[in-house]
Amino acid sequence: MARSIENKSFHAVPGVDFPHFCAQCEDYPCVKACPVEALSIANKTGAVIVDAEKCIACGKCINACPGRIPHMHPNGKFILICDLCAGEPQCVKVCREGEWNVLKRVSRGNRSYGLYARTPEEITRDLALKMYGEKAEEFL
Ligand code: SF4
Ligand code: SF4
Ligand code: SF4
Repeated sequence: MARSIENKSFHAVPGVDFPHFCAQCEDYPCVKACPVEALSIANKTGAVIVDAEKCIACGKCINACPGRIPHMHPNGKFILICDLCAGEPQCVKVCREGEWNVLKRVSRGNRSYGLYARTPEEITRDLALKMYGEKAEEFL
């Protein structure tokens, strides 16, 4: 599977590109897994905040995440996790400005957000099957 670490977009199958987002799981397994308390939860947004100074790049948060969403910075020294742009998600803004209208803001409800944290492989399989039907099996 090809992937661009810098922008966290995955393109395992031709024409099936998608961003890979943190779901802000209500039980935050990534935060619990960090051995040096480099991860915390923002009061205002519920986003996971990385303290790059504390992070020892052990990768335990990646393994704890149901979607393997935390990404190592290209310099290999600290982890990257969506911080919801402090409540003003820029990815949603550009998606709306470009009139793709794929991304939107949703308020937190009484549901399990962890269910939205899925691996790139799972997301690719579902999207490819929706887009290409049985032909997708040739690429998967
Ligand atoms: S990679 Fe960094 S943030 Fe993740 S568990 Fe290890 S020390 Fe904590
Ligand atoms: S989706 Fe992954 S990175 Fe985001 S809160 Fe859940 S465990 Fe942490
Ligand atoms: S909210 Fe901000 S940090 Fe999170 S994915 Fe969108 S642009 Fe990136």
